[in-house]
Amino acid sequence: MNTKKIEHIGIAVKELAEKVYFYEEILGLKKLKEEIVEEQGVKIVFFQIGESKIELLEPLNEDSPIAKFIQKRGEGIHHFAILVDSIEDKIKDMQAKGAKLIGSKATRGADDMKIIFIHPKSSGGVLLELCEAIVKEE
Ligand code: ZN
Repeated sequence: MNTKKIEHIGIAVKELAEKVYFYEEILGLKKLKEEIVEEQGVKIVFFQIGESKIELLEPLNEDSPIAKFIQKRGEGIHHFAILVDSIEDKIKDMQAKGAKLIGSKATRGADDMKIIFIHPKSSGGVLLELCEAIVKEE
């Protein structure tokens, strides 16, 4: 089985500070880390919730896909991420079966993951992300 669990749920927000306060202080989740991913134009904060995470995404600029998402649909759930053992195998397998992916190769995402997005047309209107943890060599 190459698919393991829902790794995280990505939520698009206009401004992190206020929402971080909600998730951390009011809901009581543990804040894991903060990260900027320039290529995707986002600032991200991760929270742990059981075996999964919540990923809050704030756009860094107007061109960010997250900014466009918020303009069109408002704040809210942006994607679900599914953890896989081998993202390369999964991409090959899904392409062979006709799934529509966004791009054809995994790229580097936040949280030391290799990621690729699956087009919502294939998955019932939900943007899905596949991710595989990058094992750090020390
Ligand atoms: Zn994500």
